[in-house]
Amino acid sequence: MLVFDTISHDLDTLRKNSGKIIITAHHKPDGDAMGSSLGLYNYFKAAGIESTVIMPTDYSDFLHWIPGNDSVLIYPEETEKCDSLIKDASYVYCLDFNAMGRINELGVSIQSGEAKVVIIDHHRDPQDFDDERFLEIGASSTCELIYKYVNKHLDGSLFDKIAGECIYTGLITDTGSFRFGSTTSDTLQTASDLMKLGVVPDKIYRSLFDQNRLERLQLLGYFLANKIELIEDGKVALAHLTLEELEKYNVKTGDTEGFVNYGLGIKGVQISALIIDRGYLVKMSFRSSDKFPCNEFSAEYFNGGGHKNAAGGASKEDLDATISKFRNAITTYRKHL
Ligand code: 5GP
Ligand code: MN
Repeated sequence: MLVFDTISHDLDTLRKNSGKIIITAHHKPDGDAMGSSLGLYNYFKAAGIESTVIMPTDYSDFLHWIPGNDSVLIYPEETEKCDSLIKDASYVYCLDFNAMGRINELGVSIQSGEAKVVIIDHHRDPQDFDDERFLEIGASSTCELIYKYVNKHLDGSLFDKIAGECIYTGLITDTGSFRFGSTTSDTLQTASDLMKLGVVPDKIYRSLFDQNRLERLQLLGYFLANKIELIEDGKVALAHLTLEELEKYNVKTGDTEGFVNYGLGIKGVQISALIIDRGYLVKMSFRSSDKFPCNEFSAEYFNGGGHKNAAGGASKEDLDATISKFRNAITTYRKHL
């Protein structure tokens, strides 16, 4: 695993900067982004350090139970307040992303300030916008890295159940509940340590996955029954959702999360692609089970990135043009199938 650790602060430095610490994560934050941000926030709180979590966009309702959620600021909703906090900040933690483009205009605000930027992340090909970094490329989750960072550079004994619940969230959401190849003995050791702090896995699992709106499950039923097409001799599952379909099922942020994984559950399928018309742009998600490099494919054709087995991208062309582009693009990657 490729590791970068240039952390040069300690807990005392952070204590001296209490109230001047910002934590942020990528656009449309997922379980790992929210879990790592609020995990660090709650850890700091237990250590007597005040920090503020600012997200570049809103996020799915199924993450709203995470401790500390009510204190999160959404940049487009409270831009002036956020800009002023960022201007006064000494440290900005950038979690679960490694390119400023992933946080929209919030990145401009951070880069025009004086704060030291600390990245903690597990994605490949980090861009150079930080002052300090704690990276393990290919680690299961940023949550696992927050736990490591705290134990290595701060004080692990201050980690409590509340921070632990946040960290556990990212461990299970980014590993498909310890299913994906990125799960290592360190991941399971972290889960074990968190349980010893009082974290109850089945409670977290239910809070995350058993809180669906009926409409979401109905959309999933419709999607599975009608929308998955097999191409490339059954090695590629391709699905899309139109704006009309999203509207019909009253789709909310995060409702389609996980849909792309179903294609990979079909025997013989090595890549699953889901293309969704969000109106302002067409977003896509790619998943592969083995050697197919989703991140390289996404970077080459769809201005995207991510991990080898899970990546995403976007297109400014319309839905039909994007689907056609995918059908052509995948033929150029046949050697990976
Ligand atoms: P998802 O398919 O769940 O949206 O994203 C899967 C992975 O790909 C995540 O790790 C995410 O960080 C990355 N990813 C998704 N969309 C983009 C994108 O537009 N650009 C880049 N660089 N990475 C993306
Ligand atoms: Mn992540």
